[in-house]
Amino acid sequence: MSFAIPAPVQPTIPVVGGDPFPVRRIYCVGRNYAAHAREMGHDPDREPPFFFMKPADAIVPTDSVVPYPAATSDYHHEIEMVVALGQGGRDVPVEKALELVFGYAVGLDMTRRDIQAAAKKMGRPWDMAKGFDQSAPCAPLLPVSKVGHPDKGAVWLKVNGEVRQQGDLSDLIWSVAETISYLSGLVELFPGDLIYTGTPEGVGAVVKGDKLEGHVDGLLDINVTIG
Ligand code: MN
Repeated sequence: MSFAIPAPVQPTIPVVGGDPFPVRRIYCVGRNYAAHAREMGHDPDREPPFFFMKPADAIVPTDSVVPYPAATSDYHHEIEMVVALGQGGRDVPVEKALELVFGYAVGLDMTRRDIQAAAKKMGRPWDMAKGFDQSAPCAPLLPVSKVGHPDKGAVWLKVNGEVRQQGDLSDLIWSVAETISYLSGLVELFPGDLIYTGTPEGVGAVVKGDKLEGHVDGLLDINVTIG
């Protein structure tokens, strides 16, 4: 097929022991750890999960220099486990939801917190706080055949070697299966979709030159430098 303009490049994530994973859409869960919901000023009652999105080409590979973004002076890290879907579906029951998963990775939901705070105050959308260029660093994926379905284990983020965020996958308010099931009731899911599952407490600002190292037990670390 020919196009009116050159077709965009398909964003991908490396897969350990396999071909690259093509990214279709990036969904992110808000406030999915109770302690983080509290630090952001919310009651972590088990209200239904809510979602926002990033463009697929916001993906950045590990070991990158991520440029400090435009239009912010409060650029925050959020360490998260990322779920990659190998199959799609709609209205998927919780018991079947994990069958959709291709694999897991460690990612960063980078956030322009000052833009988000202004958007919250004015009742405006979060897109420019969350879905900006290079806002989704992601380490290589481990397929389910290698890692299973992680549901407990340490999650942490270090900045310049110092621990800033610390949590455990077992503290997720909405499990991976519940999150996939709920999201599939809002939109039809497709192979290539990613879900950033939310961040534990300890989010904070980074500046140029900071080195970020993110970890989830059993997965490959993410390492980026702010440039
Ligand atoms: Mn997040």
